[in-house]
Amino acid sequence: MTISITAPTVSAHTDAFLKRKHKLYIDGEWVDGVSGEMIDVIDPATGKVISQSTAGVAADVDKAVTAARAAFETGPWSKMTGLQRGKLISKLACRLEELADELAEIEAIDCGKPVTYAKYVDVGLSANIYHYMAGWASKVSGETVSLANPGEYHAFTMREPVGVVAAITPWNFPLVLTAYKLAPLLAVGCTAILKPSELTPLSTLRFVEILEEVGFPPGVVNVITGYGVPAGAALVEHDGVDKVAFTGSVETGRRIAAAATGNLKRVTLELGGKSPMIVFPDADLDRAIPGLASAIFFHQGQVCTAGTRLYVHKSIHDKVVEGIAAESRKLKIGHGLNLDTTMGPLISSAQLQKVMGFLDQGKAEGAETVIGGGRVGDTGFFMEPTILANTKDTMSVVREEIFGPVLCAQAYDDDDLDVIAAKANDTIFGLAASVWTRDISVAHKMARRIKAGSVWINAHNFYDPALPFGGFKQSGWGREEGSEAIRTFTEVKSICAVL
Ligand code: NAD
Repeated sequence: MTISITAPTVSAHTDAFLKRKHKLYIDGEWVDGVSGEMIDVIDPATGKVISQSTAGVAADVDKAVTAARAAFETGPWSKMTGLQRGKLISKLACRLEELADELAEIEAIDCGKPVTYAKYVDVGLSANIYHYMAGWASKVSGETVSLANPGEYHAFTMREPVGVVAAITPWNFPLVLTAYKLAPLLAVGCTAILKPSELTPLSTLRFVEILEEVGFPPGVVNVITGYGVPAGAALVEHDGVDKVAFTGSVETGRRIAAAATGNLKRVTLELGGKSPMIVFPDADLDRAIPGLASAIFFHQGQVCTAGTRLYVHKSIHDKVVEGIAAESRKLKIGHGLNLDTTMGPLISSAQLQKVMGFLDQGKAEGAETVIGGGRVGDTGFFMEPTILANTKDTMSVVREEIFGPVLCAQAYDDDDLDVIAAKANDTIFGLAASVWTRDISVAHKMARRIKAGSVWINAHNFYDPALPFGGFKQSGWGREEGSEAIRTFTEVKSICAVL
């Protein structure tokens, strides 16, 4: 593990962007917030303030909802065909690709990501999501229905946009998680108010400048930056919002589900996870070990689907754990803007403290530290990639979402797939899982037994715009991506002509 935390200088355009006064974007205009308050934005690699965003409040939310409603009901957007919307979304996707370096630099400095990962994962995946959903825009349709009643009818269904959507996102993948919501909702003809995390608002603000440049009509996409309370809460409670599409923690998800009951707005929730990785004795370890290491250490484990619980057969346990430890030693910890960095900081001092607290608890409960466990340096919020072995299903490190680079390993000594699956399923979460084996029959049998929204075979953290994504159990409600995303942002209307 090598360490280099010095912050390189940013490019001139990013420097100018960081220094700009970041306002709210409402009805096609950049406007000051009603409260006049600003929020410091911190580079997690240095702990220094790099920019500021506007602290939106309920009065700002009200204006944004009014603009989004007008754009939805009567604006030029409401009259565009699916094909026309799709062309605009494609144009946006192409522009994101052209500006990938600039967007990646902003995402790297704001979120603490290695800039190359930000370019190919965050910007690349986001652009692909817009490209993919642009194609859907012209293909949203209902079906003709044969009725049970005797007689002659012309009966059919239509899919209509759900309306004004509040898209509330967390700090770990701002561009991607915005794309998960915005690309399909634009494809079907909804309008939106984006509420990025107060910790990482910058890429969303730059993204909206690009969206404006591409030619989306005023009011179709609005941005309210600010804290969860009041800005996010005001959106969730607003009667003019038809749907909340939320990604974030389980605690906030619960609050949102409760607050949305006022006008019974539609809600999708993409929440936390505690994803198991099950390694069978016949697994191809040359492929599995780097894959397992990346599953937990990518973006410092601050990934909702991170492979946090490792269940590995007793016969290969030591080899696999030592192999992952060896992979973790190859990581280069540093500022995301250094091109050789492969592991950045945690997002905040609070997050670092939280992860350290889990480690103390884990050790007190009897987990054994194989590697890591400490903070790195005293600048920024870096920590070592960490592996805990001899973990038990009752330990808090195994039960709760840590959201840091901490792998909890344990050996299993069983051939009964139901018993192994029961261990993997012994969690309140159900977001993702991976199965590592050369036996295709075992792989598919396990995939059927796992209670999670995504199961990967011989891979982990594999995303595709065409694959529905979301969680079982307390990992959420509903699905994003693929054709499911089109369903989730539309209402079905049944029309029947009695002939
Ligand atoms: P968070 O719940 O604290 O915040 C998420 C967003 O909600 C932020 O924009 C925040 O300002 C806003 N918010 C907070 N309180 C609110 C309220 N009362 N009403 C409305 N909005 C409110 O989550 P976080 O710490 O930013 O993100 C980490 C969490 O996100 C983890 O639990 C992680 O698992 C989860 N996550 C899930 C997925 C997924 O797709 N399932 C993806 C990424 C992250």
